[in-house]
Amino acid sequence: MTVVIDINHLNKKFGDHEVLKDVNFQVNKGEVVTLIGSSGSGKSTLLRCINLLETPTAGEIIYNGENILNDGHQIEKYRTHLGMVFQQFNLFNNLDVLNNCIVGQMKVLKRSKEEAEQNAMKYLELVGMSAYKNAKPKHLSGGQKQRVAIARALAMDPDVMLFDEPTSALDPEMVGEVLKVMRHLADQGNTMLIVTHEMEFAKEVSDRIVFMDKGVIVEEGPPEQLLVNPKHDRTKEFLKRTL
Ligand code: ADP
Ligand code: MG
Repeated sequence: MTVVIDINHLNKKFGDHEVLKDVNFQVNKGEVVTLIGSSGSGKSTLLRCINLLETPTAGEIIYNGENILNDGHQIEKYRTHLGMVFQQFNLFNNLDVLNNCIVGQMKVLKRSKEEAEQNAMKYLELVGMSAYKNAKPKHLSGGQKQRVAIARALAMDPDVMLFDEPTSALDPEMVGEVLKVMRHLADQGNTMLIVTHEMEFAKEVSDRIVFMDKGVIVEEGPPEQLLVNPKHDRTKEFLKRTL
């Protein structure tokens, strides 16, 4: 198994508040890992540390055999290997759908406009949004916006896709269309790290579920083990409240 991201002894403090405490885990190539836990347990902070939207206080993030937290590491380059999908979509509202999906490719990956468009259209088709290529985000539903955000991230051809509660801001009737796209990506063998409260979905798509509580990884395992036979009381308590 190839380890894509290897996290060792990661800590994050905001002032005196220790939000991540000695977090250790790996994401392997082709693996779908979901991160579950109560609100405030540190899930978003962990994802934000992985893509360096936050600077960890201590620890290592090993990518391709190198600790990307070492001085002099090319953070910008590292970031291009991660695709991020946020709860609030974060589309560029002044750009239409197609341009949302090509600016990063052109600016960061230095792709030509033709190449970027071709790649963008491939992923817009995959998420069922190619017919909306000239639409502005304000004319799209939440589910459509999130599908465009997924296509935009995929168009950068990342090694890992990170999703932070991608369906939490959606009206219930739109959750399904986004989960369907994510299920498809999982089936295609994409490497994915997903924070979600959608337990049925997590159970179906995950190779591994990681349960976090108060900044600590309490336990992890395949869905059938973690959801059905959790070892720790904290996991049992959480599942009792959510399932
Ligand atoms: P989750 O995503 O699991 O709900 P978060 O990672 O968002 O949890 O938050 C974990 C803890 O870190 C919370 O107590 C939150 O208030 C705190 N926190 C998150 N971001 C910041 C920040 N930028 N400054 C200070 N505290 C923060
Ligand atoms: Mg969060």
